[in-house]
Amino acid sequence: MTSSTSAAVARALADVPAVTILCHVRPDADTIGSGLALGLALTRLGADVEVAFPATVGLPTMLHDLPGTQLLVAEGDIVGHPVVVSVDAASLGRLDTLAPVFTAASESITVDHHASNPGFGDLDLIDPAADCTAVLVLSVLDELGVKVDDEIATCLYAGLVTDTGSFKWARPESFRIAARLLDAGVDARTWSRNLLDTHPFSWLAMVSSVLGDATLVPNACDGRGLVYAVVRHDVLADLSWEESESVVDLVRTANEAEVAAVFKEVEPDTWTVSLRSKRSVDLVPIAGTHGGGGHRHASGYSDSGSADEVVGRLLESL
Ligand code: MN
Repeated sequence: MTSSTSAAVARALADVPAVTILCHVRPDADTIGSGLALGLALTRLGADVEVAFPATVGLPTMLHDLPGTQLLVAEGDIVGHPVVVSVDAASLGRLDTLAPVFTAASESITVDHHASNPGFGDLDLIDPAADCTAVLVLSVLDELGVKVDDEIATCLYAGLVTDTGSFKWARPESFRIAARLLDAGVDARTWSRNLLDTHPFSWLAMVSSVLGDATLVPNACDGRGLVYAVVRHDVLADLSWEESESVVDLVRTANEAEVAAVFKEVEPDTWTVSLRSKRSVDLVPIAGTHGGGGHRHASGYSDSGSADEVVGRLLESL
């Protein structure tokens, strides 16, 4: 089913003169890597391409050096071509301020791997079995017959290595794809370090403070346990927003809890909440009750209010 949809998306993109590619708000390596890889490929086929993400927050520093960033346009400079593709956005809402650009398209296409994605384009390539959106983009590029060079491969690898937690939960197919991308010229050592193992020095103090106040709720989730931590706006201080993204990977290591949550105060009283589960808890419906979505073992949502209110609302829903 996926391959037939990949072929349909490739047919829709094969001969178009111009394409707008949209990435989700608070962009990560999968949405930007997917967008730039697709953008570079369509550029090589002769299309006029623009890639954009909602201006709500900026591009994470670690993504500044990806190949293809010359295709990125500021929100105010978006042309909005007749064919628009959204990459890695689980809902129209994830396109935030760019949602009108998507809905204005004469042909709208989604490429995504989130289980919660209802399908919101004219053509939807959605495969929750894919480890990342980047591998779905690769399937489209293969249908298009585009050569995956080192630049395109690097963008795809960025999505693959981050969305699989450095291949910790990667499927066999993802290892095969990784080998192919490395053969195409990806500097995997450098990009793994850039994307997963690089933080400013002040990140250490932030993590120390946040983890020191982490809370274990052993009887939450029917006794399977919840561990959570709160990243207040002032503790981020001079750190950029994406530096709080790594905290959940530390919090979820607590053996006593099946579910981990990190509350990130992106602006005063405005929060994004990251949820992780190990095995038995499906997070999609939990995130859904709070207006969010994602994957079975990794989901998220947004909330507003004081820390106590936001934490209290999650505890009530578990
Ligand atoms: Mn993704």
